[in-house]
Amino acid sequence: FAPWADPEVRPYIVFENVTKRFGDFTAVNNLSLSIYEREFFALLGASGCGKSTLLRMLAGFDDPTAGRILLDGQDLRGIPPYRRPVNMMFQSYALFPHMTVEQNVAFGLKQEGMAKPEIAQRVAEMLKLVKLTQFAKRKPHQLSGGQRQRVALARSVAKRPKVLLLDEPLGALDKKLREETQFELMDLQQNLGLTFVIVTHDQEEAMTMADRIAILEKGEVMQVATPAEIYEAPGSRYVASFVGNINMFEGTLARHDGNGTEIRLADGMVIRSESGANVPAGTQVAFAIRPEKIAVSSRPPADGLNAAEGEIYDIAYLGDMTVYNVRLANGQMVKTTSLNASRVVQDPLTWHDRAWISFRPDAGVILTR
Ligand code: ATP
Repeated sequence: FAPWADPEVRPYIVFENVTKRFGDFTAVNNLSLSIYEREFFALLGASGCGKSTLLRMLAGFDDPTAGRILLDGQDLRGIPPYRRPVNMMFQSYALFPHMTVEQNVAFGLKQEGMAKPEIAQRVAEMLKLVKLTQFAKRKPHQLSGGQRQRVALARSVAKRPKVLLLDEPLGALDKKLREETQFELMDLQQNLGLTFVIVTHDQEEAMTMADRIAILEKGEVMQVATPAEIYEAPGSRYVASFVGNINMFEGTLARHDGNGTEIRLADGMVIRSESGANVPAGTQVAFAIRPEKIAVSSRPPADGLNAAEGEIYDIAYLGDMTVYNVRLANGQMVKTTSLNASRVVQDPLTWHDRAWISFRPDAGVILTR
């Protein structure tokens, strides 16, 4: 599933140079973004970056100050929320406390004037979908947080919108339930063939569920890409640091040769990289590399490539992996992780040991921004 990579496929939702100002504060700044039909799209960013504002404009609760939002080729300006094929599910769920589960799910359908037998059938179908059939007669206060979340979900999709907007939908759930519910949401989206746009500030959640992620900062899009691209090939220092752990080596791009690129750091260390072929020599760059891509050992690697000596500063055994923070001679702290694929009886490395870090030339990326 990669419609964004197919130039023949027209995007379904288009934000075109959208700006939103509140007084003299710019919450969304000349932002353009395309989302495809049946995509699970995540808006990810720090608090206040404009995620909810984007959803609210798509739902029709707010209008852009400038720019256009198109849905299936149609300009949405002037179309009230209830006439858009878009539904929004809020973090608070906003269930009616005095109504049963089935009454909550039926509410929107009744308002729409759907016939009774049809409502009953649709509600039963929705409750089955979210596995709440046996709870149909309960009131919200007789449900767990996860069950309430599923009622809200059933209610949001009962009217069969084309697009479901989810604003931090799992925010109120504990970690274990969240993880389970993430997979349920993905299944639901697949089964219904809907387009989902989800707002979250939880990067793991976005990585788990989304086809693509937009990283936002201060009302602007920093990068739109698949979770793997965002993680493996971040386009900027901001994105690299926002998603997952990263080590950054700042230096100057020294030269290109047949084997790739050479970066020279202030302390003389030279990094060989396979990325950065288009970056001119002399450019200030960062070499960004994930902790698990760096090996740590008590001896230098035989080929001496991309290696630096340091001291084990601290070690954390996490069960599935062990984290080693290594302090290099120049004072830089490097985070490395190694997977504990077999049982760790005794770690050969310990605190304050001399240690070498090393990595392959294809293990990181050169960043100019
Ligand atoms: P969070 O993750 O905290 O919900 P967010 O990324 O969803 O943040 P928004 O709710 O979109 O952020 O808000 C973006 C910015 O616009 C914030 O700085 C917020 O204070 C401001 N803002 C939002 N709504 C209004 C409003 N009605 N009037 C004035 N400022 C607003």
